[in-house]
Amino acid sequence: MNKNSSNIMALAPSTSNKRETVCIFGTGDFGRALGHKMIQSGYPVVYGSRSTQISNLIPRDAEVLSHAEAAKKAAVIIIAIQRQHYNFLTKLADVLHGKVLVDISNNLKLNQYPESNAEYLAQLLPGSKVVKGFNTVSAWALQSGTLDASRQVFICGDDVEAKQMVMNIVRGLGLTPVDKGSLLAAQEIENYPLQLFPTWKFPIFLSLGLGLFFFFYCLVLDVIYVYIHENNNFSFFIAITVPNQVFPAMALTLFGLVYLPGIFAAIVQLYRGTKYRRFPDWLDKWMLCRKQLGLIALAFASLHAVFTLVTPLRAFSSWRTSRRIVSQVLNNQTEPLNHTNAWLSDSYLALGILGFFVFVLLGITSLPSVSNSVNWREFRFIQSKLGYLALILCTAHTLIYGGDWFLNPSAYKWYLPDIYMLSLVVPCAVLVVKFVLILPCVDKHLTKIRQGWERNPRYSE
Ligand code: NAP
Repeated sequence: MNKNSSNIMALAPSTSNKRETVCIFGTGDFGRALGHKMIQSGYPVVYGSRSTQISNLIPRDAEVLSHAEAAKKAAVIIIAIQRQHYNFLTKLADVLHGKVLVDISNNLKLNQYPESNAEYLAQLLPGSKVVKGFNTVSAWALQSGTLDASRQVFICGDDVEAKQMVMNIVRGLGLTPVDKGSLLAAQEIENYPLQLFPTWKFPIFLSLGLGLFFFFYCLVLDVIYVYIHENNNFSFFIAITVPNQVFPAMALTLFGLVYLPGIFAAIVQLYRGTKYRRFPDWLDKWMLCRKQLGLIALAFASLHAVFTLVTPLRAFSSWRTSRRIVSQVLNNQTEPLNHTNAWLSDSYLALGILGFFVFVLLGITSLPSVSNSVNWREFRFIQSKLGYLALILCTAHTLIYGGDWFLNPSAYKWYLPDIYMLSLVVPCAVLVVKFVLILPCVDKHLTKIRQGWERNPRYSE
């Protein structure tokens, strides 16, 4: 049975309304929660337990028997027991022969055992039909009825009929079975609940590392340096000034890092003269988390926008403005409007607003509901062309912000460049190399490679 046909089967409604008795081995947290839900959905439930004493935690209408007696009463047995206790089941091999055993167990670590728990159960009881399922649903969600995040129940197993029986029960509980194929998929299903935002790990650690570096860099230059050399206590800069330098630096650097792997990939392909060799692992992984890097960059850009909006409300800003006015009054001088500065400041703000707007558009189009409604060409257009447009606008915004400040020796406190200069390194490098890559002579060659041309073909025709 292939995966597609069984997926269709998963969508087919159950034809029978009759609820068969379901046996649950184990009266622990999950066994009780699942039993409770099953009784609510009209399934008679019988528990197989080491103790047949009824406790008031066990659902009222359920029976509690010894494992062997309970197993005789049902065709489907849910094994709500930890894997390390499975050995005792071999003594019940006769009574479990031909029965459908549902392995719902999870592990504490990814790939904890060489084989999945379900495959291990199948090895222990070769006469039974093992199906993996329910492990991605938590006991708490079953009991509290808050199944919004985990309504899908991943199912796999080698016996199609057995799988069908379990999928019918899943539907009977108001959940959605998702057929993942044969028992070989069990390891993958067992790993699902252990994964914690797998594609977010690298972007989050990178952002944390980069954020800390930028924060302390700024702290040294804007607070400690000023305190030591000018004897000014600007420690309150930690609240708004420092973060509002760190956020744009983070946003621009991370945004550049979204496009950098694409640049590396193009260089690797040009150097190798083929697209048929795998990229190094680090580059593969980096390419896979570009969306996450982009979304984190967008979050920092949004924080920068909000922090900038509150600038006029700061006591420091009004103090600085009034000081300037008082100094003009005392000197009986009016500063004429500097048109160059006015142009630069307006252009800097306009570029920032436009860059942020295009960046937000990019973020919106990465939402699955939006990206599903455009075709591949449209998606590529948005992510590549609009993406580069946003990167150009944001880089130009930062370049104009700095102006020719980088030529001024006082921009280098303790010989260190200002943070805005650091934030320009990655995006400028990306834009310069991209410019080279889109030169017709290079682009033509790269397009040829991407269409399958090889400099040294490995297979001659
Ligand atoms: P639990 O509260 O510790 O219950 C396990 C039950 O297994 C016990 O109540 C006991 O039932 C039975 N048991 C314990 N030692 C045994 C032994 N030596 N021999 C035979 N039976 C034994 O654990 P749980 O949270 O219900 O989890 C049970 C299984 O469900 C685990 O494999 C877990 O990975 C999986 N799971 C749990 C959740 C969850 O949210 N809790 C979610 C998904 C999957 P009796 O006293 O009745 O014999």
